[in-house]
Amino acid sequence: MKLERIVPVTGRIELLTGMHIGAGTETTQIGGVDNPIIRLPKDGNPYIPGSSLKGRMRALLELYLGKVEGGGDPHVYKGDSCKNEYCPICYLFGAAADTQAPIGPGRLIVRDCVIDESLESNERIKLESTGLPYTEEKTEISINRITSKVEKGLRKTERVPAGVIFDLDISLRKFEGDPDSLLKWMLTGLALIQKDGIGGSISRGYGKIRITELKVDGKEAALPEV
Ligand SMILES: [Zn+2]
Repeated sequence: MKLERIVPVTGRIELLTGMHIGAGTETTQIGGVDNPIIRLPKDGNPYIPGSSLKGRMRALLELYLGKVEGGGDPHVYKGDSCKNEYCPICYLFGAAADTQAPIGPGRLIVRDCVIDESLESNERIKLESTGLPYTEEKTEISINRITSKVEKGLRKTERVPAGVIFDLDISLRKFEGDPDSLLKWMLTGLALIQKDGIGGSISRGYGKIRITELKVDGKEAALPEV
């Protein structure tokens, strides 16, 4: 098994609507929001964890390719059929559940997407943030269907506001014999996220993104139609 190349895939992720990727803490700080977003410890700026982006790509590709298991479980390595068909899920994301799978490591490396602070548009949003940098608070309410009264107390959710631009930084490992289709499926995964969204509450309009300035191996590239 010979690694031929590592192909860089870069670009930008622009938020078209507010995005919420939770910090995974249910504890509410006094005077704080109920639902904080994840931030980098080093500068407190929000980011899109590579694991979130990769997980979203995998989930959407599994659905798109009809590879979700019965009961909604993630796709698992199917032996020769996945190997011989260069199953995009197993080759891109790995067949970790089956350590005997003779297809080598997952080809996809997805790094954390951070905010490019040299962009003037980001700088402006940072200055406009009233609380923590690059943050807005969205208040969610629940209305009683009969009385039309607000049922519960107001719930404040933190979001990264529309307009913020993150750097996209992905690599694709190309092993000897790997078909070009793996790159195509990886880009399809990004195209699906662009159509669907990232983070929480997508069905309520959160997390719509646009991918711009896409480059594959340093050359301008376009996402496939999905
Ligand atoms: Zn597979």
